Amino acid sequence: MTEKERREEERAKAKAEAEELVKGGEVKVENKETLKVKHEGGVVIEGASGLLVRIAKCCNPVPGDDIVGYITKGRGVAIHRVDCMNLRAQENYEQRLLDVEWEDQYSNSNKEYMAHIDIYGLNRTGLLNDVLQVLSNTTKNISTVNAQPTKDMKFANIHVSFGIANLSTLTTVVDKIKSVPEVYSVKRTNG
Ligand SMILES: [Zn+2]
Repeated sequence: MTEKERREEERAKAKAEAEELVKGGEVKVENKETLKVKHEGGVVIEGASGLLVRIAKCCNPVPGDDIVGYITKGRGVAIHRVDCMNLRAQENYEQRLLDVEWEDQYSNSNKEYMAHIDIYGLNRTGLLNDVLQVLSNTTKNISTVNAQPTKDMKFANIHVSFGIANLSTLTTVVDKIKSVPEVYSVKRTNG
């Protein structure tokens, strides 16, 4: 058996296993090669009546991110970002991967995904307020705010978690926060 055949067999096995994990309800069947990750959290998979899908907490992908499906034991399919280090740390993870894509990466549906960012800037009066002002113009759901000055009190690290519809909105928010005076860097983090 060639390496390619072996991989195909493993993939078929993984898919069969995924189909066994089927849970009913929110998922419909379509003849598509690729799993479609819908904003409702459901998927469409060829030949399967449904799969339970969840967004992985380790990397928190949002619509627009490059994603991959990972077939978990007993819990359906977890959606990770393709570059998720946690996913890569799983033993033989390649064998349990499924191709997935967002059904609509620009959707403005009410469904929100959690995004996490780290902000670094001058520890000045009003910095946090300015950052939160930008965020509150975009999201109604700011779930965590953690602001800490550096030891010398000169700079501030701010971590914020908030709900967002898609990657394009997230990118816009990040750019707006970057333009807040005395903000030096804004980085998206995993969670
Ligand atoms: Zn992940």
